[in-house]
Amino acid sequence: MAAAHGSTHGPGAGYLRAALEADAHHGSKLAAVVRRVRTRPAGVKISMRKATKSHTPHGKDFKRSCHLVDVGPLDSVVSIDPDRLVAVCEGRVTIEQLVDAAAKHGLVPAVIPEIHDFTVAGLINGLGIETSSHRYGGFFDTVTAMEVVLASGEVRHVDLASDKDLFDSLFGSYGTLGIVTAATVGLIPGKPLVRTRYLRFDSLHAYCEAMKAVVGGSHLFIEGFVFSLTDAVLMLGDFVDEVDPSEGELWDPTVRGKEWIHQHARTVSSQLKAGAVVRGDSLAGEMAALGACSAGTDFMGTKHYFFRSERSWLWTLEAFVGFKELTDTEWGRKMVEDRAAGDYAKMDAVFGFAGGSANNPSWSSDDLERVFVQQDTIWHVSNLEKGCRWVAEHIGVWPLWHCPCRVERRAGPFTSVPAAKLALNSFLEPPAYVVDMGIYGEATAPDFRVRRDMRKLQALMDAPTTFGNVYLSPEEFESAFDLTVYRRLRRELGAEDAFPSIETKVVVYDASKPELGRIPLWRLEREGLLVPLKRAAAATAVAAVAGIALLVAGSRHDGGVTGVLRDCADGLRAAAGSVWAAVSGVAAEAPGAESPSSS
Ligand SMILES: Cc1cc2nc3c(=O)[nH]c(=O)nc-3n(C[C@H](O)[C@H](O)[C@H](O)COP(=O)(O)OP(=O)(O)OC[C@H]3O[C@@H](n4cnc5c(N)ncnc54)[C@H](O)[C@@H]3O)c2cc1C
Repeated sequence: MAAAHGSTHGPGAGYLRAALEADAHHGSKLAAVVRRVRTRPAGVKISMRKATKSHTPHGKDFKRSCHLVDVGPLDSVVSIDPDRLVAVCEGRVTIEQLVDAAAKHGLVPAVIPEIHDFTVAGLINGLGIETSSHRYGGFFDTVTAMEVVLASGEVRHVDLASDKDLFDSLFGSYGTLGIVTAATVGLIPGKPLVRTRYLRFDSLHAYCEAMKAVVGGSHLFIEGFVFSLTDAVLMLGDFVDEVDPSEGELWDPTVRGKEWIHQHARTVSSQLKAGAVVRGDSLAGEMAALGACSAGTDFMGTKHYFFRSERSWLWTLEAFVGFKELTDTEWGRKMVEDRAAGDYAKMDAVFGFAGGSANNPSWSSDDLERVFVQQDTIWHVSNLEKGCRWVAEHIGVWPLWHCPCRVERRAGPFTSVPAAKLALNSFLEPPAYVVDMGIYGEATAPDFRVRRDMRKLQALMDAPTTFGNVYLSPEEFESAFDLTVYRRLRRELGAEDAFPSIETKVVVYDASKPELGRIPLWRLEREGLLVPLKRAAAATAVAAVAGIALLVAGSRHDGGVTGVLRDCADGLRAAAGSVWAAVSGVAAEAPGAESPSSS
């Protein structure tokens, strides 16, 4: 099915400009950004500051020396156009704000990455996809025009027709070309509820075949969890008007302590066993057609569905805690959720996610990957099984999250398969379906080495990506992406001087660094408990050795352990007496010392 939205359809730069000019406040906010850009001291790079959290997993140390431009005030949904199915948003608008504004017109953004405070400009510059991406492409595919402030302070309104090079290169450029101050975002009609069918597979092969069969098909929302090579759940969602109790129940993913989404997927998908005869149930038919071993259905309020993973940050809360006995219980989840406080910024400090942790600010972002892998990898849908098996063997992170995405056209360097790779792999030629495989969690493969294995992974996957840390050398990075146009734009637009390089933002590979494995006992270290526990362990070991020595000596002594202790006490007394005598003698012989008796 062709994308209903896409950079090639919909209102362009003229439309965006007119909508922004009609807004009473945008002009002054834009002027403030331009003024700040123009006051950049020579030689200092620009970085963005905003009130909301930045979610990219890359290190942010470079920001310390930057000239910060506050994009926080750019937080308005300027207009919603129900006829043209488009919203005009300022860059700092959060995806939740946009969901709420569109809902007033019975609409939803065509692609809704799942954390409420992702921003429009962050999703353009840092990329984003979600479960409707198999139909509408990445978030960037729903953007038809952007307003951007360049290094000189010049403001441009760009679309595919007016400035293809800049328009396409901005996607995934991580703020290295200019500041995106506003954009159009594509909308689609919504409904009050989402019905999700959960189909469970006892073989990875059957699951991957099912994924191939459903992408681009009639279901609007598709995602999958792979828990092991013999346990996977495919989730197929659609808008509906009401709950059909004969199919399933209403589930609220926001209730504190309740199952997290990946746990819930397992529970619901066990409801109906394969082969059960259920008259009139189309789920049973779909289960049989796709070869699932069991299945089930639930309903969620539409907004709840969009942010269904947020309470548990997908399953990363479980992975951070690393103690399923706790997180498989309701009270355990409550405790963990309270600690994370539903606030990514707090979780960052508490759990230590990107750029160091509260107790280990010195952990670099690739050190963190030694304890917690955070990568998104892109596979052609026909290569998904190969990718899963490789990750299972060499990294061992579970579960894996899958989100299929339609690639409509070859766009910019950070959203396309490079020409050299395409020449060798014609099946990747758009239009094509790829799957984003999210690998978030602790590596359990015994021989895991972060740099070696990330480099192999990044060479193996079908399209390069900068979602996570990039482990390619500068030369490899250059050839992994088609950067000619992007580099030319950086030069021509003065961005080389004014904005950090893409390498500063995403590349961590340093060939001179030693190859490192996992950090042992990292959870204790993260909590600041490792040093006190080591001291306590050392003290316990000394006490244990002394105790054993005492017992052994006691077994050979006529008086037993008491005799040994008495002898020890006598010995200590004698030793103390000798020391005292020696000290007094030295003092008495010292020149000028008075005899105690003379006083
Ligand atoms: C827990 C978690 C779950 C995630 N889930 C998903 C998911 O389901 N699907 C998905 O696709 N992605 C997902 N991501 C990745 C996420 O979509 C990206 O990290 C996205 O960039 C986050 O948006 P943000 O507003 O926080 O961006 P930020 O981190 O603020 O910005 C991203 C980049 O864009 C630059 N930038 C920000 N504002 C501007 C601007 N105005 N002009 C120019 N450059 C700018 C920043 O400098 C930065 O380099 C997830 C990340 C996390 C941590």
